Amino acid sequence: MKKRSRWEVQPPKWIRMFYPGTFWRGDVEDKVVYLTFDDGPVPEVTEWVCKELEKRNIKATFFCVGENVTRYPGLFRMLKDKGHGTGSHTYNHLPAWKCSGNEYLENVDKGNDVIGSDLFRPPHGQLYPWQVAALKKRFGKIVMWDVLSKDYDRQLTAEEVFENVRRNVRPGSVIVFHDSAKAWPRLEKALPRTLDHLLKEGYRFEVL
Ligand SMILES: [Zn+2]
Repeated sequence: MKKRSRWEVQPPKWIRMFYPGTFWRGDVEDKVVYLTFDDGPVPEVTEWVCKELEKRNIKATFFCVGENVTRYPGLFRMLKDKGHGTGSHTYNHLPAWKCSGNEYLENVDKGNDVIGSDLFRPPHGQLYPWQVAALKKRFGKIVMWDVLSKDYDRQLTAEEVFENVRRNVRPGSVIVFHDSAKAWPRLEKALPRTLDHLLKEGYRFEVL
């Protein structure tokens, strides 16, 4: 049976247009991708991800949850020491559509007090258009995605997570994985496979 990619794996243009001024894909012709990891840092998973990247000399950008940075400052420092990029992902992983505007922005600010980044990615990709404006006053870049691996989806196999990336990647793609315990059962197999595949295809990895 042929499986269709769901819209969120590679959001169509009309969805991207609802969020003017946000970053979904790099405007490049070369085979460059921006690998990103959300929701960490957490012990073991983040450390393992770093090792897999280091083995292949790849740098990525980690969108961190402020609460995790507060709990594991050593892991956050390790990401920076290894030359990876870091971005802000709120303090408590708050979904924008489920809280009041002020509550959301306060949580964003609390998170970035410990993360200190010019990059922001909204949890669950949720934002209201008016929030884009408020966030753009705080951050240089609001980063969405071009390819969502869906590594967090328990209904998918590692193979399907890999296929989500393999089928949809293109020059300039912002690719999302998660350095989280929830994603781990799929990440463990899908990430090394994805990295090796993209290297074989001649992709270079850049930090946002
Ligand atoms: Zn997240």
